[in-house]
Amino acid sequence: MLAMNYRGPYRVRAAHKAEPRIEHPGDAILRVTRSCICGSDLHLYHGLVPDTRVGMTFGHEFTGIVEEVGSSVQNLKKGDHVLVPFNIFCGSCYFCRKELYSNCHNTNPEATAVGGIYGYSHTTGGYDGGQAEYVRVPMADVGPHLIPADIPPDDAVLLTDALPTGYQAAEMGDIRRGDTVVVFGAGPVGIFAAKSAWLMGAGRVIVVDHLEYRLDFVQRYTGCEILNFKEVQDMAEKIKSMTDWLGADVCIDCVGAEAVGNALQHLTGVKLKLQAGAATVLHWCINSVRKGGTVSIVGVYGPTFNMVPIGNVVNKGLTIRANQASVKRHLPRLIEHIQAGRIKPSEIITHRIPLEEVSDAYHIFSSKLDGCIKPILVPPSAALH
Ligand code: NAD
Ligand code: ZN
Repeated sequence: MLAMNYRGPYRVRAAHKAEPRIEHPGDAILRVTRSCICGSDLHLYHGLVPDTRVGMTFGHEFTGIVEEVGSSVQNLKKGDHVLVPFNIFCGSCYFCRKELYSNCHNTNPEATAVGGIYGYSHTTGGYDGGQAEYVRVPMADVGPHLIPADIPPDDAVLLTDALPTGYQAAEMGDIRRGDTVVVFGAGPVGIFAAKSAWLMGAGRVIVVDHLEYRLDFVQRYTGCEILNFKEVQDMAEKIKSMTDWLGADVCIDCVGAEAVGNALQHLTGVKLKLQAGAATVLHWCINSVRKGGTVSIVGVYGPTFNMVPIGNVVNKGLTIRANQASVKRHLPRLIEHIQAGRIKPSEIITHRIPLEEVSDAYHIFSSKLDGCIKPILVPPSAALH
């Protein structure tokens, strides 16, 4: 089959590899109909995630049609069109029973923090991902969700990660009616966090980025205020000046390890890897939120040391919430929001690129070229249908 193939930092290509097979009675094999590239894939693409092995296929946001199921699978049958949460989880361990699916205890033998993730290096289990014609889906009875007849596939694929992650980012902010919410990052995750903040009763939403085309989009798409950090000298002072000098009620980090805007952080966190990513946005969140406020973090950081102003967290009495999204938990509510017309996730898709051109797709998305917000990859076998 044709699949995205990692060759090393900044080098990916479409190549032929063996089709996946059922390896366990609980597996299913899907023929992929859509897959996206996520901001998280860029950390892999840029060579920042340890143990990203040459030959791996990335892709943790995908939809597909069931081709084959293992002997113990009960909830899926050949021909079902499903969306697949990016988390691989068992559904029955201590953490899954608390709906902390992203922290499943059984699907990632390499780590104790995060559970399995499709196509995300051997630090999350070494599973191949869905930027391919076919993908193996382990624990197929618990992850995949049948796509409702009235949800188009382009909306469905955004329910596998970007939308639920933005939604959970807002949820972890514990937004109260009328709150001022600042979202850092106007990528897909930040856009959906801003949209979700309104759904949760925010009185004001301010989105911060430096890419004007993304700021324009998020303003049109969500009706938020926008702030270009390139025009700001001191972020905390700027946010305070916009909020009666109190600070925002909630600050949300939808940027993570590759933040730009502070040369020293970028040098130590991204270039020299002396810390697990540039903590620029963590500083901005902690220092811009009001005393007693909440900082919600979904931007991804490495597992090691970061220079974070923890003293300010203590002295300001902040609540910090963070996690990888537990996609499955949010699906019923988000499907309802889509069906009611309150959100149309596919409107963020700017590029539809054949899987054969995956290398161009990564370059365009990584370098933020051509007004790119969200690219989706279409495998040749899906293009025929
Ligand atoms: P993206 O790369 O498309 O967007 C990131 C945006 O942040 C860009 O528009 C960039 O210009 C902006 N940015 C850079 N530095 C900034 C700064 N200092 N202040 C404000 N904005 C800044 O990525 P995405 O797909 O939107 O993902 C965003 C983050 O969320 C990534 O770190 C990704 O790994 C993470 N993520 C987490 C989860 C989860 O479950 N926790 C799921 C998906 C993505
Ligand atoms: Zn992702």
